[in-house]
Amino acid sequence: MPIQFDNSFARLPPQFFSPQLPTKVAAPKMVKYNEALADELGIPNGDLTPNMLAGNDIPQGATPIATAYSGHQFGGFSPHLGDGRAILLGEIITPKGTRFDLQLKGSGQTMFSRNGDGRANIAAVIREYVVSEAMHALNIPTTRALAAVTTGDMVQRETATPGAVLARVASSHIRVGTFQFHYARQDKAALETLTDYVINRHYPDADGPIEMLTQVIERQAKLVAKWMGVGFIHGVMNTDNMSIAGETIDYGPCAFMDAYHPETVFSSIDRNGRYAFANQPKIALWNLSQLAQTLVPLVGEDAIPEIEAALNRFDDTFAVAFNTVFNKKLGFKNPQPEDKPLIENLLKIMAESQIDFTLMFSSLTRIAHSGDASDTRALFEDPRSFDTWLAKWTKRAQCENLVTRGLSMQAANPVYIPRNHRVEEVIQSANAGDYTKFEKLMDVLAEPYNYHANYDAFELPPKPEEQVHATFCGT
Ligand code: AMP
Ligand code: MG
Repeated sequence: MPIQFDNSFARLPPQFFSPQLPTKVAAPKMVKYNEALADELGIPNGDLTPNMLAGNDIPQGATPIATAYSGHQFGGFSPHLGDGRAILLGEIITPKGTRFDLQLKGSGQTMFSRNGDGRANIAAVIREYVVSEAMHALNIPTTRALAAVTTGDMVQRETATPGAVLARVASSHIRVGTFQFHYARQDKAALETLTDYVINRHYPDADGPIEMLTQVIERQAKLVAKWMGVGFIHGVMNTDNMSIAGETIDYGPCAFMDAYHPETVFSSIDRNGRYAFANQPKIALWNLSQLAQTLVPLVGEDAIPEIEAALNRFDDTFAVAFNTVFNKKLGFKNPQPEDKPLIENLLKIMAESQIDFTLMFSSLTRIAHSGDASDTRALFEDPRSFDTWLAKWTKRAQCENLVTRGLSMQAANPVYIPRNHRVEEVIQSANAGDYTKFEKLMDVLAEPYNYHANYDAFELPPKPEEQVHATFCGT
């Protein structure tokens, strides 16, 4: 059976998108194809050729479009963004009946490109491939990478680098900015259509815009808590980069922290630390209040208190989600009142001593397994503050099932994350046409919670000379 397309977004009114064919490229070559994901989507082997994945050929049943959206970028509103370098090929219905977008990113200019070339380079494609698939393996809602192809054309950035296209799969590509687009145009009919569409597609049990908003808020709060549980920094939480379906989307200058500090920023364009690690919940709420504002024309001014009440619940929802994530990381199944200060205290001493986030928690798993705290103590120059904390944690653990604690902690504390210096290393090799490091890193990240004797080097933070201090947008 061929790929089952059913392109519902392309059946929306014309102001939602513009029909757009990808621009042809010189010589498409497959870099990586995600067979496991293709199977889930019901894509028969070989049905998507490199020419299709680069945009030279259009798969049967696809309806290529560029979608319209706006967005607050670093707090300033841009009414006209939209898919400037991405084309939505269509929606695939899986054998189980689930609907997913299939989008090509880097497939040429559209009416939304402004001054951009509509292209992506191999660096940006590999970064998104690695990090999005790592997030999936970490059980964090995310868009997926189906394939990476090189185009055979060069793309001019700081230097000329190989051009590439990422085939991306998402629950949908509707963003907070999609609502803002129609709100800014005061197009109430379009807002109604969009809200109905989103409820139907993503929140079928929501009865009306406010219930939809409430559920979007809940998904975002849980998502950001999950990010923080693995030390992830999105880097550009603009409203156009926030999915309405609650998936992590648009991996640009994102990174996982090595040494823990709440103010960590990676993005070279985030000069004021707006999207720093610990600011992420605050920014999520700010973005959600922009979404809420777009719903006012639909529900009327009288409903504003109800909207505000929904927004006001964000902080509690986030706090519960955050504690749930960190309770699991510390092996607490039966929550106790003293857990919250215990988590806060641990993060405080980690920040003071700049302890590696991932190593800290994976070494705590080892304590739970073996009782041996020497690995964790060795992370600290002066372990006294840790020793005090360890005594409290050990006492607290007595309320838990000590037989299952180690295993449940292992399932919450990854050993392998896509460390930034590893991602950079993979990108450097890929720029030179060598993908062996990319393949290897993907193997390591596929099972992030299981210790693997041959992967020691991937567990470790960068040596001083390997440290990456900023990541670039890579657009
Ligand atoms: P992003 O930084 O990926 O979230 O993109 C922000 C906006 O800039 C979106 O509207 C993109 O479509 C657009 N954009 C980013 N890079 C390019 C490019 N190379 N060519 C055209 N548009 C782009
Ligand atoms: Mg974006």
